[in-house]
Amino acid sequence: MSLTIATDFGEVRASPRSSCYLCGSFGRVLYENARDVRYGCPGIWTIRRCSCKECDLLWLDPAPHEEDIALLYGYFRETHEDPQGNPSPLRAISKKVTRGYLALKYDYPFPCGWRRWERWLGVLACLHPARRADADFPFAELSTHTTGRLLDVGCGGGTTMKLMQEWGWQVEGVDFDPEAIENARRKGLTVHAGSLAEQAFPDESFDVVVMSHIIEHVHDPIAFLRHANRLLRPGGRIILATPNAWSLGHRLWEGDWVSLATPYHLFIFNPLALARVLHEAGFSRVFCSSEPRWADQAFVASRAVRRLGHYEPHSSQSMALRLYGWLMASVEWLCLGLRKTLGEEIVAYGIK
Ligand SMILES: [Zn+2]
Repeated sequence: MSLTIATDFGEVRASPRSSCYLCGSFGRVLYENARDVRYGCPGIWTIRRCSCKECDLLWLDPAPHEEDIALLYGYFRETHEDPQGNPSPLRAISKKVTRGYLALKYDYPFPCGWRRWERWLGVLACLHPARRADADFPFAELSTHTTGRLLDVGCGGGTTMKLMQEWGWQVEGVDFDPEAIENARRKGLTVHAGSLAEQAFPDESFDVVVMSHIIEHVHDPIAFLRHANRLLRPGGRIILATPNAWSLGHRLWEGDWVSLATPYHLFIFNPLALARVLHEAGFSRVFCSSEPRWADQAFVASRAVRRLGHYEPHSSQSMALRLYGWLMASVEWLCLGLRKTLGEEIVAYGIK
């Protein structure tokens, strides 16, 4: 039995899903009355948790039909970046800190025109665990500074692609969002419109496939990763990041945790469940870690959801809120010393 949700863009059909995608066990209701707290998409949903302790997968119930899900994304405004205009002084310094950090840690080429001493600003990245973890992606998961062909699935405005291109990689991206694609193409990047399945990439044509915050949005993660596996040369590497159901943020904020991202996140993984999915998709030497990547923003947003019932993405933040985010991300980073699975995001790689 399916039900329909009326949206501004048309009716979305959805089917109840009470059993686990991974192991088939019954999923008990973890959160009732879940809704879109960021973009105002209509609909009331449930988040279920697998009753199998070894699996512990979280998923959205009912599941929107794959054919209709594009209608939900009429509300979702996440990937857009403004490529124009002068960055604020804070953003300009933040960029230099990131670039300096990459130069010091990964021998990343420092932009010409910047003074030599400016790379030492990178040391400041160590004071901000959340931003440092973001800067590390996907560099930390590449064993050495090799180059080759890299595909960024869900590349958005092309920030990662541009960095990897400047590091010597031949990069291509895939994305749905016309505005994001245009932003990436303005940077001179090659981006293909549509889904991964719609592209005609030959098998074994890439050395690395990167996907950040994609796997939780897809209907059949194993089939999706098998497709990525086919595109990789033997020995090629997949690198992905996704919200972590076992994170400190989720433990503290529970149903107000912003990374539940109802109804866009169909699954919320934990490191064990993600490793299982990667193995089933044909990857070997799978490694999953949890990192405080963007934990500052997750804490600020979840706090707003708890207090106000919603969160306005891209809203300006007071210095006090930024400080709060930094403090909580630092606490999470310290907690990682005690328990390795408390990071906000799972960062994983697998070898074909
Ligand atoms: Zn399960």
